[in-house]
Amino acid sequence: MRIDELIAESVAVIDTALSGESTARLDAELLLSHVLKKQRSYLYAYPEVLLKPEHLAEFYPLLQQRCDGQPMAYLLGEKEFWSLSLSVDKRVLIPRPETEEMVEQVLDLPLPPQSVVADLGTGSGAIALALAKEKPHWFVVASDFSAQAVEVAKQNSQQHQENNNQSAEQFLLLRADWLSAFAENSFDLIVSNPPYIDALDAHLKHGDVQFEPLSALVSPNAGLADIEKIVAGADTCLKAGGYLAIEHGYDQGERIVALLDRHGYQDIVDNHDLAGMPRFVIAGKK
Ligand code: GLN
Repeated sequence: MRIDELIAESVAVIDTALSGESTARLDAELLLSHVLKKQRSYLYAYPEVLLKPEHLAEFYPLLQQRCDGQPMAYLLGEKEFWSLSLSVDKRVLIPRPETEEMVEQVLDLPLPPQSVVADLGTGSGAIALALAKEKPHWFVVASDFSAQAVEVAKQNSQQHQENNNQSAEQFLLLRADWLSAFAENSFDLIVSNPPYIDALDAHLKHGDVQFEPLSALVSPNAGLADIEKIVAGADTCLKAGGYLAIEHGYDQGERIVALLDRHGYQDIVDNHDLAGMPRFVIAGKK
């Protein structure tokens, strides 16, 4: 079978399986370029190339899994975040563009040049590695309660250090339960994209989230329990003059602003994501 024929067939199959999936063509092309280990442009340059049986044998199971709803990032084994290519699989949440927006805001905070920062619930290491890349003089602590997530983050941090010639001394990765392992006044900045979805939220039954680790998505108390633990821990672990940045659900902003207000924060700003939804709070500690 030719490249263009396989793509046409796959687009139809994905369209039928995931009705309304607007990315069927892109998905088919990405899966095939992944199998062929070529750029997507190759598929357009050589549509008439005949595919080898071993390529088809690798491609069809991926197509099947995509039709079952498996996220593209897991099938390709990688996701781009902040121009870093991160290895991802079902052990970690797939990094989202909304979280890049939080990274962008955090980088502009008036923090000391040699800040010590924490990324809590780092998952693939996305936030921590983006911060380490942009701020070579920061010391970045990345933690996760999931030992499996720590393994993925470790792989990504090693990869990133090799690619960017970065020193391992800038980065510490460990397994920890939010801030319970850290001492008083440890951090100038604490960032987190914690689990914040209510267990009964219908959103969990659709799309990529169905395949992501529940421990990275769901939190008790209407999705707020883990955020509350982070805020409580920051009372001791965050330095005066430091900042707390937390991603949250679209309907949680007001409650989190009120929580931070009760904990005595100043300059509390609830930021919207590019879709116009309240998505992450940044607040300064007095
Ligand atoms: N933003 C993700 C979603 O709504 C959830 C990520 C999280 O719980 N931290 O799909």
